[in-house]
Amino acid sequence: MAELRISHYVDETKVLGPFVRSALWVHGCCFNCEGCLAKEMNSREYKAADAEKLAEHFLSVKDTDGITISGGEPFLQAEALSLMIRRIRDARPDYGVIIYTGFTFEELKDKNNASTYELLGMADIIIDGRYVKELDDGVPYRGSSNQRILLLTDRYKDISKEYYNTSGKRNIEIQVTGKNIYMVGVPSENGLKIWEDLERKAEVSSNNGL
Ligand code: SF4
Repeated sequence: MAELRISHYVDETKVLGPFVRSALWVHGCCFNCEGCLAKEMNSREYKAADAEKLAEHFLSVKDTDGITISGGEPFLQAEALSLMIRRIRDARPDYGVIIYTGFTFEELKDKNNASTYELLGMADIIIDGRYVKELDDGVPYRGSSNQRILLLTDRYKDISKEYYNTSGKRNIEIQVTGKNIYMVGVPSENGLKIWEDLERKAEVSSNNGL
């Protein structure tokens, strides 16, 4: 059994990559970016999840194009995530994978680590680099302008220009699952204010996006 430390997941979202996708937030990060939206989430207890069972779960969600993995830092759990994606792709070879990582692509390549390479090799897109508050320019789908949207395969080549259009707006979804309320996506300044207000009023536990 390969254990993943996760914060939560949602079955469907439209704001973390092209088409309808599942999204998974892994727990824990090795960086300490000022203004990180995931800080509170990462300071809470993590949930232990079996990578193969998670794979089964995501496979049971019908009509998704793939998954977006965020965190936390996914590449700290590269081995278990690779296993999860391998299991999903055994059943659905066309399953798309997008990963948000605080490492740059070059740092990941320099790691010289088999699990890192395997996970990187399974990603169609990575959005890379630390969040830099001063470079938070409101562009959609990433936290700050130093972060790059890197197409590692041709899978989203035709749609990427239109989807990751830099003149577009940031969108979030507020999702409620049981007693939990989640913000999904990269929020605009206004979106973040609305979310924080909602969090203050809500008597439920909450989790910030990506
Ligand atoms: S890399 Fe991402 S999750 Fe990690 S501290 Fe920076 S903003 Fe937060």
